[in-house]
Amino acid sequence: MRKLKKKLREYSLFIWLILLVLITLLCQHYYNKNIQNQATNFKKILNNIYFNKTLKEITSNLNPRYKLINYIVKSGDTYENIIKQIEIKNNERKIFLNTIKKNKSLKILKTGQKLFFKIDKLQDSILVEFKIETDKKNEILFSRIVDTNIYKSKLIEKNFTKKIVYKETIIKNSLYNSAEILGIKPNIILEFARLYGFQVDFQRDVWKNDSFQIIYEEYIDASGKIIDTGNIIFANLNLQNNDLQLYRYEYKKNKIDYFDESGKSVRKTLMKTPINGARLSSSFGKRKHPILGYNKMHTGTDFAAPKGTPIMASGDGIVTRAQWCGGGGNCVKIKHNSMYQTVYAHLSKFGNGIKKGTRVKQGQIIGYVGSTGLSTGPHLHYEVIRNGKKINSQKMKLPSGIILKGQERKKFEISKIKIDVLKSEIISKLN
Ligand SMILES: [Zn+2]
Repeated sequence: MRKLKKKLREYSLFIWLILLVLITLLCQHYYNKNIQNQATNFKKILNNIYFNKTLKEITSNLNPRYKLINYIVKSGDTYENIIKQIEIKNNERKIFLNTIKKNKSLKILKTGQKLFFKIDKLQDSILVEFKIETDKKNEILFSRIVDTNIYKSKLIEKNFTKKIVYKETIIKNSLYNSAEILGIKPNIILEFARLYGFQVDFQRDVWKNDSFQIIYEEYIDASGKIIDTGNIIFANLNLQNNDLQLYRYEYKKNKIDYFDESGKSVRKTLMKTPINGARLSSSFGKRKHPILGYNKMHTGTDFAAPKGTPIMASGDGIVTRAQWCGGGGNCVKIKHNSMYQTVYAHLSKFGNGIKKGTRVKQGQIIGYVGSTGLSTGPHLHYEVIRNGKKINSQKMKLPSGIILKGQERKKFEISKIKIDVLKSEIISKLN
């Protein structure tokens, strides 16, 4: 007996521990069971038919009277198939289509165009209002005249604001890539390249660590989304520590051009590179012909670019040839003035309306890159002819277009100072 008592005393701590564990487990079990009961009770309430009815009534009262639908036009969409997807009566659909038919400006649906429908659920789901975007900045609002099948329409300018944007960067990879990283929209990048295209060969003249600054306009809607881009107001491309600045200026009523700081138009008579995003693959001079295999004078400059890349007229002029021309495949020849002509060869196809006798503007698309004729891959063969002699387009010195003088120059200086002030204001805000 004593022995047992002694043993018990020895084990007492252990026994207490076991008891404690048992109590905890028991409590846990009851707690869980309680929760389960609560859950089943709750489920019972939810399944209760009367409760369900009340819930339905509450939520239906919470449902808004109007159903609002935003629709974005997909390729191949017609007004017929769009309205079919909207839950309204057939008669309502007919009224909608008849209303659209009467409005000539709405004939063509464009992919990405936005439509808006407002349906009154209290009034037998009638289409009380709809809006159709005509372009990025305008839309037509149709409102149903009460108790009729007629809509009155109103053109409304979307609520957007013009914002002046300033960006600058050091070019690390390509100009396009650097601009894209900054969030500059493709439209602006292309315009920038086009403006500098008269004086800069992007493939050869732009080096790593060159830089650029740009001021341009953006249109922002109420939600802060960029709807569209506007004009480039100022740009500076710094190439190997040389500034190439351009200022937008209206030199005559509705006549706008870009000028350098001394009032010379940056638009030259001809462009050095009549194509964007191309790589200069073969320059002017003697070379072994890639197909013929013997040494031959290369009388033009080759720009490698994917098939279908647009080719621009490098200056204003008249098309003197747009046809098959043997080794050159499909080619276009333009006469710019008494001195200069340009040739574009190996095209996959001609630009819209480009034929002999067509008058073209500088920058207008005259054809697309291909590999027709004697060619090993898609590229543009570009030739410049001066006084009947083929010259190196990459080395030519070209006279500029307009040069502002006298009173005109004075007005330009004022406009230029305004832009410079704007620029320093934006930059000081950034810092
Ligand atoms: Zn060539």
